[in-house]
Amino acid sequence: MKKYTKILTAILAVAMLLSLAACSSKTPSTESDVPATETPETAAPEAGEAAFTTVNEGKLTMGTNAAFPPYEFYEGSNIVGIDAEIAGAIADKLGLELVIEDMEFDAIITAVQTGKIDIGLAGMTVTDERKEAVNFTSSYATGVQVVIVAEDSPIASVDDLFAEGASHVIGVQRNTTGDLYTTWDLEDEGLATIDRYSKGAEAVMALKTGKVDCVVIDNEPAKAFVAENEGLKILDTEYAVEEYAAAVSKNNEALLTAIDTALQELIADGTVAEIIAKYIEA
Ligand code: GLN
Repeated sequence: MKKYTKILTAILAVAMLLSLAACSSKTPSTESDVPATETPETAAPEAGEAAFTTVNEGKLTMGTNAAFPPYEFYEGSNIVGIDAEIAGAIADKLGLELVIEDMEFDAIITAVQTGKIDIGLAGMTVTDERKEAVNFTSSYATGVQVVIVAEDSPIASVDDLFAEGASHVIGVQRNTTGDLYTTWDLEDEGLATIDRYSKGAEAVMALKTGKVDCVVIDNEPAKAFVAENEGLKILDTEYAVEEYAAAVSKNNEALLTAIDTALQELIADGTVAEIIAKYIEA
């Protein structure tokens, strides 16, 4: 019996090897039948996935405002940070080379709309108004609008900005949600004057020199600005909680799908959390 089993095993093994050899020998002969000129230049899209185009072939052009640490800032002459790394990981997945263009925050949505950039990634909050102009990917981070004041400021909480008869001068970065909310909530209600700066750091300088009473800005850059400037603090109460996402042109649904699929994979496998943890202490 033992001998019989051994022989049977040997026969089966030879049969398997032969069938494997038959299969693999077919592949090269089939391929060599296809003339080289018929080979497609780009890989056919997977089922359910449309081919996408980018502003510059083979590149993923990202627009950002590199004055928003730790999401985007300069390290020497390189733009680094959470958004730069997430965009790099997305570009890798899509087989593209990442190119980052620094611009005013204010200019990013228009650059997406007019096809100058593929993706706006700038700690950008998803708002209903912006959704009318661009498409957003899934959210990859939460942001909080906070209030920076001088350490000895009489402003003790967000409620003080809304108090009856309030008349504070509030510094913001132009066209950010900090600008939009304080304009609608406070300036339009006659409760404040808004001073708009092109960079968050300039608004913080205005606070240091007493030109404004407080600055409404995203919490992470706020922490960086307060750490760099003595005599300032962030109020404990939050002005607003928001979601950050990437902006893509409304005319490029295929690119939105490709970027969003890549981003969702990077969120699911923990890459995004890892990148964020590298820059932000839990
Ligand atoms: N999150 C804010 C916004 O979207 C600020 C973004 C920024 O200044 N980069 O308006």
